[in-house]
Amino acid sequence: MTEQTKNSQTILVVGGGMSGLSAAVEAAEVGFDVVIVERNAYLGGRVSQLHHYFPKLCPPGCGLEINFRRIRQNPRIRYLTMAEVEQVTGKPGAYEVAVKVRPRFVTEKCTCCGKCAEAATQKVSDTFNLGMSQVKSAYLPFPAAFPQQFVIDPSVVGTQEGEALAKACEYGAVDLTMTEKTVSLSVGAIVWATGWEPFDPSPIPYYHYGQHKDVITNLMMERLAALDGPTGGKIVRPSDGKAPEHVAFVQCAGSRDTHYLPYCSGVCCLAALKQATYVLEQYPQATATIFYIDIRAMDRLEEFYTKVAAHPRVKLVKSKVASITADPQTGQLLLTGENTEKAEPYRSAADLVVLSSGMVPNTATRKLPAEAQYDAYGFVAAAPAGAAIAGCVRRPMDVSMCVQDGTAAALRAIQTVSRR
Ligand SMILES: Cc1cc2nc3c(=O)[nH]c(=O)nc-3n(C[C@H](O)[C@H](O)[C@H](O)COP(=O)(O)OP(=O)(O)OC[C@H]3O[C@@H](n4cnc5c(N)ncnc54)[C@H](O)[C@@H]3O)c2cc1C
Repeated sequence: MTEQTKNSQTILVVGGGMSGLSAAVEAAEVGFDVVIVERNAYLGGRVSQLHHYFPKLCPPGCGLEINFRRIRQNPRIRYLTMAEVEQVTGKPGAYEVAVKVRPRFVTEKCTCCGKCAEAATQKVSDTFNLGMSQVKSAYLPFPAAFPQQFVIDPSVVGTQEGEALAKACEYGAVDLTMTEKTVSLSVGAIVWATGWEPFDPSPIPYYHYGQHKDVITNLMMERLAALDGPTGGKIVRPSDGKAPEHVAFVQCAGSRDTHYLPYCSGVCCLAALKQATYVLEQYPQATATIFYIDIRAMDRLEEFYTKVAAHPRVKLVKSKVASITADPQTGQLLLTGENTEKAEPYRSAADLVVLSSGMVPNTATRKLPAEAQYDAYGFVAAAPAGAAIAGCVRRPMDVSMCVQDGTAAALRAIQTVSRR
């Protein structure tokens, strides 16, 4: 299928996370046509998976919803979900872009009534919950997903289950004949905002992530605490569903380590402090211990750090944790290391351990389908004229910085299309 956008004043934004959304709405609101290309079935990126934002501790859904409303109200913005850029040719002001769009098997006629999910009997792994739960073969990625449009898992196409889903939809929105298609776009400038993925700590032998169920990552903790998460917001031990009394946060789990992720992601200390508040709020007796090399809380976020650190049930231990083991009988986790302030070794018990794993740019494993330069870690260091880079694909940053970065990228894109 070939589809032409109006003209080369159009700006393409690749990645619909906070950085890409910011670039898109800012450019559209000053009069430019924008197309967002997003790989997931929904917009919002990783922020959609967070329970609360530091430092305000408000749910990220509010900020996302404001952006979605701006998109809904602005006819200049189009978006393609389940879509990825395959090829870019041309020059600044006149690019031809081939976008591959995977089938959702549900059309825009979907009213989100949920009848297809009611008819579904099969389940598939829930990637939104990082595999900690399953979803029906017809699912909405999460309750507040934008667009509010179901997805059908490709595994049921051509099966009786697929037919049952189609039959259940009284609006005729289930279309199992959908196939992958290529959409061609003519655009004047491109903003690359493809973001990050969590570092996988399983190669770190002394933390046993993947072997002990109650050693989880910080992003898993976000999903456990989220009301729409796998446990309905209850922070419990994955091994036995019990409430934890002592939660340990292990900072720099792979970060600032030349064997794994040599850089600092800049947000993990604040994320751990934030997640300590999740534990304190939910369990009036529980404690949170944060093991850190040094706390990195920049500027105004220092205040957030001092406030959480002063809580009587929060303990900070200056140490790089040396090992996490589990008692074979009780399953209780034991952290060992040296408290470098007191110059004392410790053995500290915990019911749940959260590894603060850093942010890896998506481009570390898959380069952009366009000319770009990368730093040693895979972040995009520079892109040629006509392309702008925004957010965590450029370097790790928090959401407020992503909003600024996305806005700056919008300006660069506007300059490119206006220069012609
Ligand atoms: C545990 C944890 C907790 C955090 N908590 C906070 C917090 O409380 N407050 C805060 O300010 N920050 C927090 N952050 C940081 C925050 O998550 C990031 O700042 C934010 O996600 C960055 O947004 P982004 O748009 O740059 O990237 P992303 O959120 O990764 O969005 C990128 C988007 O691009 C899409 N994409 C990727 N590749 C392609 C492709 N090839 N084609 C099309 N689309 C593609 C992705 O699917 C995604 O939707 C936290 C980070 C972690 C690790």
